[in-house]
Amino acid sequence: NDVHGKNHHRRGTFGCHVESFTLLRSDGKTHRCSATDNARLFSATIGGMGLTGLILSASIRLMRVHSLDIVERVTPFRDLCEFFDLAAAADQANEYAVAWIDQLAGGRNSGRGLLLTGNHAEHGSHAASRAGGNFSVPVQPPFNVLNRPFLTAFNAAYRWRKSRATVPRQAGYQGFFFPLDGVRDWNRLYGPKGLFQHQSVVPEQTAREAVPALLAAARQAGQGSFLTVLKRFGSIRSPALLSFPRPGYTLTLDFPNRGAATLTLLRELDRITVEAGGAVNPYKDARMGAEIFASSFPEWQRLEALRDHAFMSDFWARTAKRLDTRRGSVEAAE
Ligand SMILES: Cc1cc2nc3c(=O)[nH]c(=O)nc-3n(C[C@H](O)[C@H](O)[C@H](O)COP(=O)(O)OP(=O)(O)OC[C@H]3O[C@@H](n4cnc5c(N)ncnc54)[C@H](O)[C@@H]3O)c2cc1C
Repeated sequence: NDVHGKNHHRRGTFGCHVESFTLLRSDGKTHRCSATDNARLFSATIGGMGLTGLILSASIRLMRVHSLDIVERVTPFRDLCEFFDLAAAADQANEYAVAWIDQLAGGRNSGRGLLLTGNHAEHGSHAASRAGGNFSVPVQPPFNVLNRPFLTAFNAAYRWRKSRATVPRQAGYQGFFFPLDGVRDWNRLYGPKGLFQHQSVVPEQTAREAVPALLAAARQAGQGSFLTVLKRFGSIRSPALLSFPRPGYTLTLDFPNRGAATLTLLRELDRITVEAGGAVNPYKDARMGAEIFASSFPEWQRLEALRDHAFMSDFWARTAKRLDTRRGSVEAAE
């Protein structure tokens, strides 16, 4: 998967840092792939969702940092207009930038949130501390705990606690990069049915209408997202054939799985995204339809052409293979 971090605006995707890899295909042959050797397989495999063969080894470029600590600054914003006005300058000034949105806040508070920016501290820890917080969810409750009243109270408390920090704070990287892991086994809070994550990206030109529309659709459906994150992607091109990150704004919403009601909402979010000229993230998907995938990745057939035919996934069968079969039937009818 061509994953991204909170510094996409400066460093691009993971794929931008892959120098080469060795790929084993089901015919037993191995291929060394890089931007110059087997370049088509190289770009198809990055973001290729495991469909082009088995990567045996890879050479990736890392970034040197002064320390493992992050200096974090929290800037509250009243609404999305204020966020959009802050975002580009925040990206320019900081290695990391991401916004947390109070997704359930409606009326004049809708779109309020916190812009979290960070940079590696010049002087700080050089030893990784133990991951995982002091709290844990020891057992899985038989139902979803993250209901609307809980989330409303949680969001208010989170916003209050974070916005008290009016000066930059230096702390270990775990809390900045992996806030959820402050509570061990946090995923159990969703109950046995788990969660769906919806991540969309929309171009800069349509973001000021599309992002509020996505948030409003979720609110109107009465569905609360535990963690709602908004980030501006930069314009560094990935070598990947099918790369989700692209210039614009990406919104990520985590919904407890409430069955048909949640699936209906997710389809509505897909529709808003595609109408705004955007894309839905396939790397985290468990239910996207073929048309949404085709609109998000019009060049999907180029990956299908390079797919190792012994490799298949639920996702590819549900999207690309279905489109392929339909295309075949139309050609046969003609
Ligand atoms: C809490 C949380 C936060 C997240 N935050 C982000 C985020 O900020 N940004 C982001 O982009 N994503 C994010 N993700 C998504 C996640 O990081 C990606 O989907 C990532 O690719 C998962 O990698 P994995 O190796 O753990 O998963 P896996 O499912 O093991 O692998 C991911 C893909 O790579 C393929 N693959 C694995 N091994 C090989 C191999 N040897 N050869 C060929 N193909 C292989 C698999 O088939 C699969 O398609 C988040 C996920 C979670 C749970």
